[in-house]
Amino acid sequence: MRPELLNPLFAPCDTIDGVGPRLKKQLAKLGIERVLDLIYHLPVQHIPRIRVARLASAMVGQVIIAEVMVFQIDDGDGRRPTRVRVTDAAGRPATLVYFHDRGYARKILPRGETRIVSGRLESYGDQLQIVHPDHVVTQQNSDEIPEREPVYPLTEGLTNKRLGGLIANALERIPDIDEWADGNFIASQQWPCWANALEKAHAADNDAAARTRLAYDELLANQVALLAMRQAARKRRGRALKADDRLITQFRAKLPYRLTGAQERSIAEIIGDLAADAPMLRLLQGDVGSGKTAVALAAMLRAVEAGGQAAMLAPTELLARQHHATLTDMLTGLGVRCAILTGREKGAKRTALYAELAAGQIDILVGTHAIFQDAVTYKDLALAVIDEQHRFGVNQRMALMSKAKVPPHVLVMTATPIPRTLTLTQFGEMDESRLDQMPPGRVPVETRVISQDRLSEIVESAGRLLDSGGRAYWVCPLVEEGNGAGEQAAAETRFALLKKRFGDDVVGMVHGQMPGPEKDAVMASFAAGDIRLLVATTVIEVGVNVPEATLMIIEQAERFGLAQLHQLRGRVGRGEGKSVCLLLRAPEISETARDRLKLIRGTNDGFEIAEKDLALRGGGELLGTRQSGEGSYRVARPDDIMHLADSARADAKLFLEHEGGFQASPRRDAMRALLYMFERDTAVPLLQSG
Ligand code: ADP
Ligand code: MG
Repeated sequence: MRPELLNPLFAPCDTIDGVGPRLKKQLAKLGIERVLDLIYHLPVQHIPRIRVARLASAMVGQVIIAEVMVFQIDDGDGRRPTRVRVTDAAGRPATLVYFHDRGYARKILPRGETRIVSGRLESYGDQLQIVHPDHVVTQQNSDEIPEREPVYPLTEGLTNKRLGGLIANALERIPDIDEWADGNFIASQQWPCWANALEKAHAADNDAAARTRLAYDELLANQVALLAMRQAARKRRGRALKADDRLITQFRAKLPYRLTGAQERSIAEIIGDLAADAPMLRLLQGDVGSGKTAVALAAMLRAVEAGGQAAMLAPTELLARQHHATLTDMLTGLGVRCAILTGREKGAKRTALYAELAAGQIDILVGTHAIFQDAVTYKDLALAVIDEQHRFGVNQRMALMSKAKVPPHVLVMTATPIPRTLTLTQFGEMDESRLDQMPPGRVPVETRVISQDRLSEIVESAGRLLDSGGRAYWVCPLVEEGNGAGEQAAAETRFALLKKRFGDDVVGMVHGQMPGPEKDAVMASFAAGDIRLLVATTVIEVGVNVPEATLMIIEQAERFGLAQLHQLRGRVGRGEGKSVCLLLRAPEISETARDRLKLIRGTNDGFEIAEKDLALRGGGELLGTRQSGEGSYRVARPDDIMHLADSARADAKLFLEHEGGFQASPRRDAMRALLYMFERDTAVPLLQSG
């Protein structure tokens, strides 16, 4: 249950004076539904108000403070605004414009008087004007006008001033809550208390410490939730998976290669976890091509040996099919039954699958999210492997843990190496294994950065590769976040051009909008070598494995995230021969973009790229926009996360492990309130019942 003292903050925003249905709708567009959302709607920046003695010294677009004399007022009507004509000290005229005025302007700007006004200076023809000045005061009250001003994210029809007013109102509802963070730490940072920090973050003068404190709160909530979940999970009895190595031994014997030291170490760590009766929560990090599949399969075989079932979740249909094919291949002769379940298995086939799963006739199930839907019952799910890219959030992981009576062991694999600080905030409840060693004999991919100007040369060099029987990927630019249709259009244009040049039977295309079977068919014919040039959007980003492909061309590479480029590049260099990755860039790109491409060109080490990317642009791509709302941050920015995650972790440990946590710590009520405010409260009921 939500602590009662938070009720004023969880009240809908239309309990604030002046918020009617229309304003409510506008606020909803900004994600503001409750009073809480208003107080955490923080300014994106603070702009200075510039005091000018004369209008001539101001620039259009600036927010100014100027002294003016009113000489004429032209009243408006329903259609025309009221225009107040003024001059500055030097006699330069300007107009103050008021829409739907109803006599207000006359009241605050009497004719013949001098006033200090402030607002954004605009030009209208050759006239200077300020529409709805933010402040109009007498000379004596001149210092009432703030020197700086918070600027809020806005939506159409909602002014900064209006929103600022609502927020000021909302701030009055802040309840009195005790300090939830470690008092010593807060004091050592000289940070204000929460209530003060909120006020200061909204105030006119930009207070960095206040904002940082608020970010810390959010990270603390996150860390407490993660660690609390970990504690709760540890307390639940899982199922100790012990068995002879019968299947694992056969599997090893069948492998055409020797496992790397890193693979051996990870397998040992996992098998160790599985043998304990607390459910495993482990993250397996390994760069593209580091051999995560073999590790996962060894873990799944242990589950099967011990008489249980294993499920493997892939982020896309394409990957699920590929995993299924790989696993089936690796499992031949072992007598292990492996099936696939995605949105495409329908009707009688699906019903039959459900029945076989429930009867324990399937040992290993591979699929998309369908495999964890409510309709699916396992006879005895002992291990869940999640192969993904941060798309399976904390709450989903926990839901999975509590789904079965006996919670399954969970292994999460990330295809993108993640810097340590981010691992802490995204996967903080998990133990970690790292595949920091590549299988031997890999020739590193050679990466070149080339201007898009030279497209025709690049087409020709792709042509030479095709003529000699080679295979290549051609990745089309990202259009906009989530604009799948746009990406498709871009890919189609390129597809048409390349088909014309190389012929229909050589060039194929896959994109995210394509129906699954069609996509699979194209991929299959690329894998078989019928199609040898594959035009694609980023659907091929993760996991796709065609060792014969040795050329990767990426258009407008500067628009991709570094981790994504690294993933894409990882599609080649999987076979014997030397592979090349061509990063095409716009003829003119920014300094930062240039540095980023240089970085990619300079190294093949995914861990290094992840760390440097974080330093270079704050890791936004790893944390932010591409993932679902869950587990994302409202206040904390990548920079805060980098600098504060460790402290928040230490604070959370202090609270949970030394002070007695939600049972006994003196700050337990405050902490519970904090978790509710940041929607990390899913951890709380778990704790109470555990
Ligand atoms: P990841 O999923 O980590 O990107 P995969 O599991 O798909 O990598 O492995 C990439 C390729 O490397 C596969 O073709 C696999 O057969 C091969 N591979 C895996 N482990 C080894 C090893 N120890 N020695 C040689 N090749 C390996
Ligand atoms: Mg993989």
